[in-house]
Amino acid sequence: MKSWPAPFIPAIPGRGEILRLRDSSSGELVPIDPQRPARMYVCGITPYDATHLGHAATYVTFDIAQRVLRDAGHEVRYIQNVTDVDEPLLERAERDGVGWEDLATREIDLFREDMTALGVLPPDALVGVVESIDLIAEAVRALEASGAAYRLPVQGCEGEDIYLDLATQADFGTVSGWSREAMLDIFAERGGDPERPGKRDPLDPLLWRARRPGEPSWEAGGLGRGRPGWHIECTAIAVHYLGSTIDVQGGGTDLVFPHHEMSATQATAMTGDERFAHAFVHQAMVGLDGSKMSKSLGNLVLVSRLRTSGVDPMTIRVLLLAQRYDVEWDYTEDLLGAATSRVQRWRAALSAEGGAPWESTLAQVRARLADNLDTPRAVAAIDAWAEQTLAGDHSVNAAPGVLARMLDGLLGVRL
Ligand code: ZN
Repeated sequence: MKSWPAPFIPAIPGRGEILRLRDSSSGELVPIDPQRPARMYVCGITPYDATHLGHAATYVTFDIAQRVLRDAGHEVRYIQNVTDVDEPLLERAERDGVGWEDLATREIDLFREDMTALGVLPPDALVGVVESIDLIAEAVRALEASGAAYRLPVQGCEGEDIYLDLATQADFGTVSGWSREAMLDIFAERGGDPERPGKRDPLDPLLWRARRPGEPSWEAGGLGRGRPGWHIECTAIAVHYLGSTIDVQGGGTDLVFPHHEMSATQATAMTGDERFAHAFVHQAMVGLDGSKMSKSLGNLVLVSRLRTSGVDPMTIRVLLLAQRYDVEWDYTEDLLGAATSRVQRWRAALSAEGGAPWESTLAQVRARLADNLDTPRAVAAIDAWAEQTLAGDHSVNAAPGVLARMLDGLLGVRL
């Protein structure tokens, strides 16, 4: 489907460092330095509600990763999916008395607007499930042909559901590192069906859901009419667009299990490779008043609502960059106030006739970002430059121009 417009990335003097990211499967910092284009897959939205700050934080995090990779001289191939048919979307459409396709179209449009306003680099392809039914069905058929899947009849329906047989997958569990008890505790809460009678293992993920009355479904060769399970969509889209192994698999920490665990084990089952992603990288949850921001709790801070209330999208971006991506944080009005005054200080410094020397600031920002996307310390380095400039150091004529290009190119902040 249509992505959103790519912002221009200005040239910056010199070259950035090799990006190192914390791989959450091993806990280690790993360099992202492939000898080919870097391949990044970030799980996208289920379009039934507007983009909240937690989503925005995720996409800004991987936007920064992409900028740092490019600054280090890498080409980046980046794919993001849109789960445009799944239970939460169908349930919301039913509740609101709207067509599920209309709801998805409306929310995807709003998501594109939010991403554009925040200056997020678009993926090379934004790929919906509905447009990918054939390639997802092909992945399910391949898993079935390899003996890694089994079918279960559905009461009252003609078709059969298809599940992955986790017992055939030796690497299952290596992405999350969770105990079986922990997995069982959360599986149902995150879309799993551990109680389904007949499953070989309660954790086996659904690959193909046979058509149920009143649900959308597609004809898919030997699979019968139905629709894909959640995890297989990402496996199939990632492998199709990026190949069997990728450099970065990204998303929020709520995707570690089961989504990334299942997606990865399905990918290795399909491709025969040992490992799906070089680094699994997770954005920590964003809260409000001490609880996780979530649709079910109804405590969402929506990007679109902040924008329509007059908040400059670049202020939202600066607010996000002032937080570490891998540490949970809570949104507060104070954070918004701090971001607003930071943007004002930066603007004032950038409009000076000259500024403090830029070389060490640029080197620091590059070093901080390459060090597992330490955006708060990169922001602090820019604060220090702005302070020195506002205190009257106008010794370098070109400095405000270089800093403005750096802010735009490396941090996506266009002031
Ligand atoms: Zn995904």
